[in-house]
Amino acid sequence: MSAYDIVEHVYDVVIVGAGGAGLRAALGMAASGLKTACVTKVFPTRSHTVAAQGGMAASLGNMGDGDDWRYHMYDTVKGSDWLGDQDAIEYMCREAVPAVLELEHYGVPFSRTEDGRIYQRPFGGQTIDYGKSMAQRTCAAADRTGHAILHTLYQRCLEHGTEFFVEYLALDLLMDEDGSCRGMLAWNIEAGTLHRFRAHRTVLATGGYGRVYFSCTAAHTCTGDGNAMALRAGLPLQDMEFTQFHPTGIYGSGCLVTEGARGEGGYLTNSGGERFMERYAPSAKDLAGRDVVCRAMTIEINEGRGCGPQKDHIHLHLEHLGAELLHQRLPGISETARIFAGVDVTREPIPVLPTVHYNMGGVPTNLHGEVLSGQPASADAPVRGLMAIGEAACVSVHGANRLGSNSLLDIIVFGRAAANRAVATLRAGEGHAPIPQEATDRALARLDRIRSASGRTDTGAIRLAMQQVMQNHCAVFRDGPLLDEGAARLGEIFRTLHHDLRLSDRSMIFNTELVEALELDNMMAQAQVSLRSAIARTESRGSHSREDFPGRDDVAWLKHTRCWLDDAGAARLAYRPVRLRPLSNDVASIPPKERVY
Ligand SMILES: Cc1cc2nc3c(=O)[nH]c(=O)nc-3n(C[C@H](O)[C@H](O)[C@H](O)COP(=O)(O)OP(=O)(O)OC[C@H]3O[C@@H](n4cnc5c(N)ncnc54)[C@H](O)[C@@H]3O)c2cc1C
Repeated sequence: MSAYDIVEHVYDVVIVGAGGAGLRAALGMAASGLKTACVTKVFPTRSHTVAAQGGMAASLGNMGDGDDWRYHMYDTVKGSDWLGDQDAIEYMCREAVPAVLELEHYGVPFSRTEDGRIYQRPFGGQTIDYGKSMAQRTCAAADRTGHAILHTLYQRCLEHGTEFFVEYLALDLLMDEDGSCRGMLAWNIEAGTLHRFRAHRTVLATGGYGRVYFSCTAAHTCTGDGNAMALRAGLPLQDMEFTQFHPTGIYGSGCLVTEGARGEGGYLTNSGGERFMERYAPSAKDLAGRDVVCRAMTIEINEGRGCGPQKDHIHLHLEHLGAELLHQRLPGISETARIFAGVDVTREPIPVLPTVHYNMGGVPTNLHGEVLSGQPASADAPVRGLMAIGEAACVSVHGANRLGSNSLLDIIVFGRAAANRAVATLRAGEGHAPIPQEATDRALARLDRIRSASGRTDTGAIRLAMQQVMQNHCAVFRDGPLLDEGAARLGEIFRTLHHDLRLSDRSMIFNTELVEALELDNMMAQAQVSLRSAIARTESRGSHSREDFPGRDDVAWLKHTRCWLDDAGAARLAYRPVRLRPLSNDVASIPPKERVY
């Protein structure tokens, strides 16, 4: 294919992604005088963060029994099934309070209590006094919290002069021979031009990869591009076997009904009208951890107690809450249920099914958002010049299962931490080392390979095959033979992608077929890594539930998975111990115990 002209850009920092994580980082960096570029494939306020409904956890204690960050930390460690690192969790839970107040001061229009404080609702697994009662910890702007946060941050970023590159698709990281990251190559989808961004820090804030599955609550743009860029740069991804299913995706469409609906008093029933969660989680009931609720729902359906003519879904009841509360606290999901399920929530239950919702795994980082090379020799040495934050990153605060309302928290706390780190370690306007030409050539070779693909199978067919394998072989319940068969099938699909892909449009201007093919290539790498990591982990922990290994095995498996992938699709695994020591002496380590709700 033809040679490309490349437009050059020089910045102190370039952030890939304009969701909550990317914008919070951009804001902190730009406001401190660093020349900051934010590159995004969709308009900033269309990032998936905009869809977050329920809210953001912080132990403000505005409502209900007194709250404390230590309770929040305990819940998060337990929610993670002890795979989360306790130093990172302490940091996040302590920083939650100032992070929410800062957002309030930026102008986020939170819902209010009678006396004017931030409204907080109960959420799954969030408790007071180490499980004694349910906490009201989740700060909400009705059921449109992500929307409120994202718009506020975008306006603040504009105020501080962040430079946005909108509808630019980041293609690859530009790595030096010594393994440092020097910047990133992107394609301007609208103009058809290529752009090389040089920067002292490149920040991956590219979100999750929910679209690897057939049914998910995430936007079509959630293809984990940053994770795949890290893999291609020779870096590992961490804990990729842990995919969170959300109990209440709308049957058929997969659209999310927030856990806040159960937080406000909604509950689930089976075909007999039984509130079955009382059997599975006697104390937290419908507000147990998401993995626990999803398994219970799946068992009810598998044992013939599903609702509807096919007995293949569960009912979520909100009718009893009354029209006024639904209008005030859950207006968005009332509308979603009407449009996607044809249901009037004031009168009838919503048909729901567990649906892929969140990726606990991602690019391994330290507390400052610096990416870790994961090389056994250098243990946890940071990769120079590269950071990752938000759903793309794995710090790890969510371990094997994330608690609801802890992700909006994660993206804000670690977006801010990354900004602080960049500001502390960089001087604005420092000179740049040259980028080796081979790095650009490698990225262009991949672009050319996909752009000129002239096989027989189109992107949509390959993507569907991959999504079905993941949905059928790597879902709520897993076992060895099922996973192995999935890996074999995925291997064939990988070969089809590499040897038989067909693109009909070879242009560079608004070529959405090329965008989708590049995204598919990214997703395929993550599907492979997820399956490989899942096959290796012979225990059940959090969202990873193996029918052939039903117990949690702390002796063998209290450790993070790291997985590398080579160009031929071969995976390599290594492990790192979980950090059980908190950051400070203000709290004791929380030793592993059985996880019951
Ligand atoms: C429906 C839904 C509801 C949710 N509700 C809640 C909730 O109530 N509470 C909670 O805590 N969590 C919730 N979550 C989870 C939470 O919203 C997400 O984990 C979080 O918003 C992710 O933020 P992010 O900034 O990491 O990524 P995103 O918001 O997904 O942003 C990713 C950004 O990366 C950019 N990007 C990606 N690839 C490229 C590329 N190749 N080139 C250029 N740009 C690229 C995109 O354009 C986008 O700007 C919800 C998730 C979903 C799907």
